[in-house]
Amino acid sequence: KDFRNTVKPNWCPGCGDFSVQAAIQKAAAGVGLEPENLAVITGIGCSGRLSGYINSYGFHSIHGRALPLAQGVKMANQELTVIASGGDGDGFAIGMGHTIHALRRNIDLTYIVMDNQIYGLTKGQTSPSSAHGFVTKTTPKGSIEKNVSPLELAITSGATFIAQSFSSDIKELTAIIEAGIQHKGFSFINVFSPCVTYNKINTYDWFKENLTKIADIEGYDPTNKSQALSTVMEHDGLVTGIVYQDTETPSYAEQIDGYSPNLSQAEMKITQPEFNDLMLQFK
Ligand code: SF4
Repeated sequence: KDFRNTVKPNWCPGCGDFSVQAAIQKAAAGVGLEPENLAVITGIGCSGRLSGYINSYGFHSIHGRALPLAQGVKMANQELTVIASGGDGDGFAIGMGHTIHALRRNIDLTYIVMDNQIYGLTKGQTSPSSAHGFVTKTTPKGSIEKNVSPLELAITSGATFIAQSFSSDIKELTAIIEAGIQHKGFSFINVFSPCVTYNKINTYDWFKENLTKIADIEGYDPTNKSQALSTVMEHDGLVTGIVYQDTETPSYAEQIDGYSPNLSQAEMKITQPEFNDLMLQFK
């Protein structure tokens, strides 16, 4: 169960994305997958290179489009474990429409955002998760817009598994990815993954000083959605751990009565026009 390949990542030394890659590889092995059971689909950005660095099926897609591809792969082959991944720009700017609908659709896959609060690949522009007032070459007087709050977004969009972690805590990150893979529905994992080259504010030290572990909050119940939302808001989104999980809601595929991608139209005992209608839903 070796998910390593021979391709050497070209991320900058110290980039948080190395740990995310290692955690995915450990988690995949930890839940007993073989490379042929896993597909990793990525968008564009430094983090988008991930699909080429893991020994599994992989697809390096176009900007903001990892989720449509990943959802199509999963609906076409329910036997595959599917991980979609990308950065904060990929998922919360150009891909935001797909993110919201994937959160509420509950297709059984794991979406990992490597959130470094900046565009790294294009050399340091303000991103949707950059803080209000954040200074870069695109916002030289500070970002006027307020930042997107990924956890609030996921909670209010109806996601059934919502977690956050930090590249520096590979043990917690690996455990969360394992839990996300095992969750029967859409799992959203936002990972603070510092860009050491362009983001000199949200550094490893900054996160260490500002993050609170959900597990340390007395009486926290990850099945209580209103508590999840209020806790996230009280901590300005700076929490790590499993924030919310709903194990009751069936996945998208489970809710399609009688649907199986492995059945032919004849086996499903439906007419050709009915079969065509069904397939159109997954276009
Ligand atoms: Fe990582 Fe930033 Fe370098 Fe990109 S530019 S590889 S995000 S450190």
